[in-house]
Amino acid sequence: LIGSDGTARPTIFAEMSALALEHDAVNLGQGFPDDDGPAPVLEAAVEAIRAGVNQYPPGRGVAELRQAIAEHQQRFYGLSVDPAREVLVTAGATEAIAASLLALAGPGDDVVTVEPYYDAYAAVIGLSGARHITIPLSEPGFQPSPDAIDAAITNRTAVIVLNSPHNPTGSILAPEHVERIVAAAARHDAVIVSDEVYEHLVFDGARHRPTASYAGAAERTLTVSSAAKTFNVTGWKIGWVTGPAELVDAVLGVKQWLTYVNGAPFQGAVARGLQLDDGFYDGLRATLQRRRDLLATGLVDAGFTIAPTAGSYFIVADGSPLGLTDAAASARALAVDPGVVAIPLSAFGLADAAGGASVVSASALRFAFCKPDHVIAEGVRRLQSLRR
Ligand code: PMP
Ligand code: GLN
Repeated sequence: LIGSDGTARPTIFAEMSALALEHDAVNLGQGFPDDDGPAPVLEAAVEAIRAGVNQYPPGRGVAELRQAIAEHQQRFYGLSVDPAREVLVTAGATEAIAASLLALAGPGDDVVTVEPYYDAYAAVIGLSGARHITIPLSEPGFQPSPDAIDAAITNRTAVIVLNSPHNPTGSILAPEHVERIVAAAARHDAVIVSDEVYEHLVFDGARHRPTASYAGAAERTLTVSSAAKTFNVTGWKIGWVTGPAELVDAVLGVKQWLTYVNGAPFQGAVARGLQLDDGFYDGLRATLQRRRDLLATGLVDAGFTIAPTAGSYFIVADGSPLGLTDAAASARALAVDPGVVAIPLSAFGLADAAGGASVVSASALRFAFCKPDHVIAEGVRRLQSLRR
């Protein structure tokens, strides 16, 4: 976490966004939307501040938001969650994941993730003192093999972190793999932390299916989500975790010492968002699907080989047909010329975290499409100059 010069090492997202600013590049790196979220949600936060909702909220989160989270789980997935005991509001999904891992894993334990994985998992597993074991995802489709699942999950496994739709690959974990992971978790009495921050960003008519809805999963699953991606409010840092009361209590036990509470005026506003009608959620998906297609077509025209994206904000593209074989170096070079920022997939692999071998292709880049059409079009226009 600390670099050799003694300063905090910036995350790959912070580093690449700073490069984008420095070189006036089109930022298709860090996954944050340029568009503002729904007006009623923004307005509710402004009203709350004016109405004096500015002091510490309750430790578990504002009652109205916990109720809205429980209703959301029921409305979209038919899952019953008790807002009083089975919901905890956190400082984004980041804190939900950190507090869960710190509560449930420590030295002598294994924490299993798929690989590639969202970078924060590796950092927090390191803080917990547990060992990080990965299940490689392979193409086509970025899915795990049944053997790899069974090999990774053992008696040492304390927690399995799942993430579907998946950052960085945009894949959705196939039901047979979720079933196999749940069975292995049950065999070895492990907890599943299911990071579902992209739950509403699934395309081509598919619907998200939470891990907790699989047979035998609810009793051992903490489901994590966030307002960031659904309401375009990444800067608000309101997330949540739902699951069995004893597990949620364990997470609260850590969360109260990390941040105590968070964002009082934003919590009621996020509740408003969760109550928006289906038209909002359909529109969100439709807009992002159009942007996915715009970026996918543009990347192929520019000469990249791309993997299909089923959900999330991201497309994985391989630059080797263009001679871009080392993505970590290419990502930095592309920021300067032609002025487009992407994230090297190696940032989501063990080679980066532990100096070991990585399953992540060295020539793969992650491009984000949570951007207005004209921004994607300009990024693509610049990338097309690589062919010449
Ligand atoms: N998990 C995944 C898979 C993510 O991509 C992100 C950030 N985009 C987070 C967690 C963190 O979410 P938050 O901003 O709500 O902390
Ligand atoms: N989750 C976002 C991404 O993957 C970035 C969040 C961050 O900067 N930590 O791009």
